[in-house]
Amino acid sequence: MKNPKTTSDAAALLNTKTSTRDTPSEQDAKHRANALRIALLFVSVVCGCKSQEDADLARRLHTQRLRTESQSTSDAIAPKDYPSNWLGTRTTTVAPGVHAFGDLQPSAAFAIESSEGVILIDTGLDENATRLRELFFSVQLRLEDVRYVLLTHAHYDHVFGANKVREVSNAIVCAGAEDYKVLSSADRFALFSLFPKTEFSGNPIRVDRQLHDGDVIESGDVTVRVIGCPGHTPGSMCYLVEKEGQRIMFAGDVIASLNFGPATYPVHISPRYRGNAVAYLETINRLLQMEPPDLLLTGHPRQQTRSESIRIDSKKWKELLEPAKQELQIAVDRQNSDGPDFLDGVPKQIEKGLYYFGELDGIAVYGLIRSDRFVVFNAPGGDRFADFLKAQCKTLQLDYRTPDMVLLTSNTETHSSGLKSLAGVSQVVTPQLPVTSAESSSTKIDLYEEDSKQFADLAIDSLSISHAGMPALAFRFSVEKKQVLVTPSVPRNIGLWWVTRRNGRTKQSFVEPQTSELKQELTASSQRVKDYLDSLQKLSEFRPDIWLPTLPRTGQNANVYDQQWSLTIDANRDAVTHLIDSTE
Ligand SMILES: [Zn+2]
Repeated sequence: MKNPKTTSDAAALLNTKTSTRDTPSEQDAKHRANALRIALLFVSVVCGCKSQEDADLARRLHTQRLRTESQSTSDAIAPKDYPSNWLGTRTTTVAPGVHAFGDLQPSAAFAIESSEGVILIDTGLDENATRLRELFFSVQLRLEDVRYVLLTHAHYDHVFGANKVREVSNAIVCAGAEDYKVLSSADRFALFSLFPKTEFSGNPIRVDRQLHDGDVIESGDVTVRVIGCPGHTPGSMCYLVEKEGQRIMFAGDVIASLNFGPATYPVHISPRYRGNAVAYLETINRLLQMEPPDLLLTGHPRQQTRSESIRIDSKKWKELLEPAKQELQIAVDRQNSDGPDFLDGVPKQIEKGLYYFGELDGIAVYGLIRSDRFVVFNAPGGDRFADFLKAQCKTLQLDYRTPDMVLLTSNTETHSSGLKSLAGVSQVVTPQLPVTSAESSSTKIDLYEEDSKQFADLAIDSLSISHAGMPALAFRFSVEKKQVLVTPSVPRNIGLWWVTRRNGRTKQSFVEPQTSELKQELTASSQRVKDYLDSLQKLSEFRPDIWLPTLPRTGQNANVYDQQWSLTIDANRDAVTHLIDSTE
């Protein structure tokens, strides 16, 4: 991957340094001429009236000057004299010509000086790259000197500055081929994972070169080896650089910090956010088989709450990776036994006879075939509902027939308007009359205002709760010894949890958009808040193995493991309690 744009101009100028023997006065004159030329180029770069060639030349000359100026100091500082410990919040030169910008948050960026310009690893979340420019300046570099931008993966906090760096430097922006589409289409859902709290113009992130495992990038005297590490995202890459006898790895979020290790959270959320447990496990196994790097620079050193050694040996390497390996193995085993049942719009069989049909107008529809009867949960979409059901049944290779029974979690128009498209439904269960769209001479409407015993012969329990000033129903039944709970829009899937590997403590983060939606909905009245808390209390008594919510906003996994149900209830309580506190 040689730079194709080497100019004869630049080559001639650089050659004068070594190819001829000049008298001191001639050298002086040449230095002056070069200095003048550099100054002119800087002016043209700063003025924005540069050509690609001028930018390349200026970058190389500037880098050469810096390297010559720092020659005496870098001679004096051997690699072993560079800090082995790094408080991840600081900007530190961690090896000769290798700068770690820990002050950039939430994720770090790194600059590697080469004889042909700077290689920048990641670009932060600021689309103007303002702080990144300052940090470059603090180590006597300029964004204009960047020749290559190597993105570790397509998450907002690592890539948003890339366009600006490219604009000012003409740098070649590189990213994993599997992340290319998300970057170039500015896929908000995937870029933000579950944290869309940062302003974003929505501009595509321009990528000039798609990288694959095993690629090599050469920039003058620096060679970067590309290691494909899918799992956190499909196109996640680690970059390995050998500099003055040290192997330095830039790990992005594949190993997000020295105390946390690999950032495995995406494997627990929908593939829409592009995590993959099987791929991540393979990546970790591959890294474990590798010779560990001498220095490990991670994507989120700010997570390090204390100064950590960035020098890695086999023991430390294993300590970082083994716990994640075990965790991922559990996730893979669970997926193998229960299926990756993400409620992400793609119809699927959850268990034998239990189906997720996807969402219509934002309301999830589920199906159950039991005792030769076809039971459907929720009926949104008005006239389109029957066609929707037909299409989803076809995708699942189920023979379509009119449902025998429709169970409504709410009798509002949004949940029940599709009933009119179904001819011949014999039974509708609804929390409260009227469901006008269901009224016909042949339909029996069952009203459940009180908690019911099992109705019909289907062994389905209903649970009466109240939500947003309206009565609502949850339904509970078992399939293949698993407890299934179908809920109205309470509780919400608003939390994401991490277990801190070092101390086993669970940390929670609220996710969007459901947290904002919930707050907006409940702000309307204090009665709503009270209803919501009462409903949470009632639902907290269950511990479903499979949770089928009416609003599976961020493609959550239907399978509920460990403490997830009680954590979900608690997170909802926390959010609501916080809401009360902030309005009082
Ligand atoms: Zn990430």
